[in-house]
Amino acid sequence: MIGEEQLLTLQGLYEKMGIKSDIYEYGEMVLEELKPRFDGIDQIAEYNQLKVLGAMQKHRVSAEHFNPSSGYGYDDAGRDTLEKVYASVFHTEAALVRPQIVSGTHALAVALFGILRPGDELLSIGGKPYDTMEEVIGIRNCPGSLKDFGVTYAQAELFSDGSFDYDEIEDLLNEKTKMILIQRSKGYQTRPSFSVNQIGEAIAFIREKKPEAVIMVDNCYGEFVDVIEPSDVGADLVVGSLIKNPGGGLAEAGGYIAGRKDLIRLCSYRLTAPGIGNEVGANLGVLKNFYQGLFLAPVVVASALKGAIFAASLYEKLGFRVVPAADEERNDIIQAIEFGSPEGVIAFCKGIQSAAPVDSYVTPEGGDMPGYEAPVIMAAGAFVQGSSIELSADGPLTEPYAVYFQGGLTWQHAKYGILRSLQEVNDHGVTPPERPDDSYIDPEDYEDPDEDFI
Ligand SMILES: *Cc1c(COP(=O)(O)O)cnc(C)c1O
Repeated sequence: MIGEEQLLTLQGLYEKMGIKSDIYEYGEMVLEELKPRFDGIDQIAEYNQLKVLGAMQKHRVSAEHFNPSSGYGYDDAGRDTLEKVYASVFHTEAALVRPQIVSGTHALAVALFGILRPGDELLSIGGKPYDTMEEVIGIRNCPGSLKDFGVTYAQAELFSDGSFDYDEIEDLLNEKTKMILIQRSKGYQTRPSFSVNQIGEAIAFIREKKPEAVIMVDNCYGEFVDVIEPSDVGADLVVGSLIKNPGGGLAEAGGYIAGRKDLIRLCSYRLTAPGIGNEVGANLGVLKNFYQGLFLAPVVVASALKGAIFAASLYEKLGFRVVPAADEERNDIIQAIEFGSPEGVIAFCKGIQSAAPVDSYVTPEGGDMPGYEAPVIMAAGAFVQGSSIELSADGPLTEPYAVYFQGGLTWQHAKYGILRSLQEVNDHGVTPPERPDDSYIDPEDYEDPDEDFI
């Protein structure tokens, strides 16, 4: 029997878990306004759930597909069927979905090195790509980069409103241009992320000017945010990480490349070796989690989206700049919040960390990360190391001191984490940059945050 004193109201339990009543009540007020948007997110999840289910049924997924394979992994029906399921979900001819792809960066590198040859040029039409791609491409010198192999690079900047500069793109297209890179999500930048339709327009433009160019979309963080994917609007390849959206929080590693069959073959030759390609690669027992993660992914992405919108609304109303803005359309699961000071970024990350199921007692600190130029602070109490479909936050400790927040396997956890972040930001007296803090909750109203923590 639960004793009377243990029966807490929900608000009482939040309080025990470190959320003071005004933060809680402020959160409830903000949430009330978000209900219609949450309904819209649930509808997208419903559509994508059916899409994934349909793909699994079409390819007759069965328990034997979860069997581990070892060694060369010849005739691995589970692996091959999963790749067919991915191809169906993305409406592509083929896919490569492997635990041997160690990350999104690796998946992108496999595709670039698989397809580009010395003398070719890669054109990014959306400005600077994701940080880790700089060394892959050779924007920052690195032995073994594309540049090192004689592949050149060109970059069309975006207009200040984040739209494509078609004149510049046209100018930059030339006889060497072999591949086009479009990054759907903003990554560590404060430009807006592209919608699938916007990507579709850019693809149509390029097709007209240079039909044979291979168009690849870095789809990281974008999967299942919309009912269509870039491959539905003409991308030749879509690429992403399984410890982000499509892994549904269950995939313990891996990446995918989905697209045209001839290109997937080239990618597989790069991933393993020319000739053997996708016919080898033991699944090492990960397949049940890959299938089940994909099955859960539409709903997990919906949870993460709700968290992003909740955080945007909560902080925007307090005067912080948030990207995307609270009422803006969503094209990925990332929410950027500008604090303007390292204290804000650190307090936010501390809050997210202390809300985690794993390592909640750890205090995150900034540190150097391979592939990133500035020190990065990361908060992640994740079941899978570095998984950013789980509730996580990271921010390079440099101007404009923005924190990038994403994930949440359940909406309830995302909600708690965001409230916890606000409690922490508030307790540290962090105020919005260049704004009077009259609309802000006064930190003096609180005593020591940890005092009555369970
Ligand atoms: C995360 C990410 C990557 C790189 O993925 P990793 O798995 O971290 O290597 C590339 N592009 C974008 C837009 C991303 O968000």
